[in-house]
Amino acid sequence: MTETANIVIVGGGLEGLAAAWCLAERGETDVLVLERGTLCSGMTGKSSGIVRCHYGVPSLAAMAWHGVQVFSEAEQIFGTDIGFRQTGYVVGVGPDNTAPLAANVEMHRSLGVPVETIDADEVRRLLPGIALDPFAAFAYEPLGGHGDAYMTGMAYGTRARALGVRVRQSTTVTSLLQRDGGEVYGVRLADGSEIHAGTVVLATGVWSPALGATAGVDIPIRAQREQLLLVDQGEPTPDIPTFSDLVNLQYIRREPNGDLLVGNSDHSTPEWADPDDYVNRADDPFVETAIAKLDRLLPAMPDPRLASSYAGCYDTTPDYNPVIGPSPAPGLFLLVGFSGHGYKISPAVGRLAADLLLDGISSDAAVDGADFRYSRFAEGKPLASLNPYVGAGEMR
Ligand SMILES: Cc1cc2nc3c(=O)[nH]c(=O)nc-3n(C[C@H](O)[C@H](O)[C@H](O)COP(=O)(O)OP(=O)(O)OC[C@H]3O[C@@H](n4cnc5c(N)ncnc54)[C@H](O)[C@@H]3O)c2cc1C
Repeated sequence: MTETANIVIVGGGLEGLAAAWCLAERGETDVLVLERGTLCSGMTGKSSGIVRCHYGVPSLAAMAWHGVQVFSEAEQIFGTDIGFRQTGYVVGVGPDNTAPLAANVEMHRSLGVPVETIDADEVRRLLPGIALDPFAAFAYEPLGGHGDAYMTGMAYGTRARALGVRVRQSTTVTSLLQRDGGEVYGVRLADGSEIHAGTVVLATGVWSPALGATAGVDIPIRAQREQLLLVDQGEPTPDIPTFSDLVNLQYIRREPNGDLLVGNSDHSTPEWADPDDYVNRADDPFVETAIAKLDRLLPAMPDPRLASSYAGCYDTTPDYNPVIGPSPAPGLFLLVGFSGHGYKISPAVGRLAADLLLDGISSDAAVDGADFRYSRFAEGKPLASLNPYVGAGEMR
């Protein structure tokens, strides 16, 4: 007999598992997650896990704020540590970006996000040794910080399973099953067997376009390689806030072992890559540029040394924002395209996916589900920041 489930989720990464968890919390437990490897073995394991509400799109700021609240209570909700460290979050901008910073902070306050603008003295107190000459204004979120995306995804999965969701690993979906009328009614697995479903949720990150194509759905995602450095400053970094440097377009956060994690925020020349065949360490030119930027930011590092590096791929959409909602093929729901910022919003992504799948509408008045509709690209209405930063790319 063919196996069935009300909802089949393809992809056991952070977002698919967030959806499984939230569906189960809402009472929908006839859910089957299919993961070709092991849970969270995709790009989730590469995440920097930065947590901040600093977005220029109100829905995303509200989703990140929901994320902060869930992460803050993770021990109670999931009964386990998800690696969330509430170090605080500081964003610094140059003179040309003080107006958008102020407008974003005001918008965040209207959503209830605890955030304040702080002066250079306060930033120096929070981040000892930082060179502040290129910066003109700062915002501080005391409840931000960073988490561990792998631990978080596993916590979603464990909770979902405890509530009755079925999870199958080492299970590759090779195609979507589609009726003549276009409706998707299940999936075909690598062993040729079929699983039939009321709805199939595609949560396969950078690998989504190929699966979408099996049902004739064009998924506008490209894999964008991003390189990360781990820097040993010569002595363990103190417990500093996560810092977004919107002048040099770089971010830093403290690793549990005291190293600094250094990531790139300059998306002006994205490197498109094959997610199954990319170099998993930083290239020399990238290292040179990133270290020069870091030297400018923290000139007093005692004895800096590159400890390690790696790379991951963002599932980048044309507007650097996700697609959450029905696809053009009835029965196929998309949960893809998180474009390098899907960690902090993942609790809200799960909630929105469950809302849309069960009720067709977002339960949070501050989160407009239509913002993430598939059709926005064809309509020529990308989801864009209300208060964009000059030269700071599409990420905000
Ligand atoms: C380098 C990097 C840094 C990041 N930093 C941050 C950050 O600081 N803050 C933030 O908020 N976000 C960040 N993100 C983004 C965030 O981590 C991702 O958006 C999120 O983890 C993606 O989860 P996912 O479930 O969509 O994808 P994935 O974790 O990639 O999961 C997709 C899953 O689908 C499975 N799969 C694929 N094809 C098939 C198939 N045919 N059959 C079955 N299973 C299949 C894969 O094996 C994989 O496990 C970062 C991402 C990267 C790559």
